[in-house]
Amino acid sequence: MATAATFPTLPEAAAAAEYLIRSGILASAAQVNDVWKGSSARVEVNQSDLERARALMDEFHKEKADLQDDWEDQTRPDLSALDPALAPACPNCRSILPLDASLANCPACREPVDVVSLIVARHGPEALDACYEPHDLNLNERELEDLHASCACGYSLHGLPGTGTCPECGAPYNKIGPLFGDRRDEQP
Ligand SMILES: [Zn+2]
Ligand SMILES: [Zn+2]
Repeated sequence: MATAATFPTLPEAAAAAEYLIRSGILASAAQVNDVWKGSSARVEVNQSDLERARALMDEFHKEKADLQDDWEDQTRPDLSALDPALAPACPNCRSILPLDASLANCPACREPVDVVSLIVARHGPEALDACYEPHDLNLNERELEDLHASCACGYSLHGLPGTGTCPECGAPYNKIGPLFGDRRDEQP
């Protein structure tokens, strides 16, 4: 896999990966923890799609600039999927904050709070994994067939359904696979 783009957070990379998938390029988003640079998220594609993917990422950034508000809503993690025990305490008054990523002020003391950063500071970025399930990526048959995926044997699956068996080697495949790739720790 090759990196088509890098984003500060996983939801942003996932939105970008979804954009590529809807344009027919198989992509996945992966959180990368770099000991030196902190964590970031990458959009990865097959090497053979890299040039097209990078061009589409330019388009994506332009569209994103036009839709800034929607974009913020879309990439905000859905904290309702989290274990309620992860709800952080307000740093000012210690009251437990609701699991709401859009919360700007503590309901008790009105001090500004950022629920997402409080959870990450306390439990690490992996605590948010449950919020990033690819729940709303509903591709139709046509979009799935258009995806430029390859079987592990190298055979192109373009034009074939989303899941099936490879006509070349007979192995079962699933084109979409996990949209949100595995978390990895980079070697320095
Ligand atoms: Zn408070
Ligand atoms: Zn194959």
